Amino acid sequence: MPQMLDFPTCYVCRSVDLEIISNEEFGPMTMCCECGYSWIASYEELSSDIRVNIAS
Ligand SMILES: [Zn+2]
Repeated sequence: MPQMLDFPTCYVCRSVDLEIISNEEFGPMTMCCECGYSWIASYEELSSDIRVNIAS
């Protein structure tokens, strides 16, 4: 039975300290503040309470 998480976590280090960044090529991406890993943001991540940091 898969574990249901209330909050998105980093795929690498399982940190919940994530932020949404804007990437010109890939669009919105989720980045882990702990290890720096980033991935294309999912709808769940975009609609969650992650703070948004639009890179200029
Ligand atoms: Zn991480």
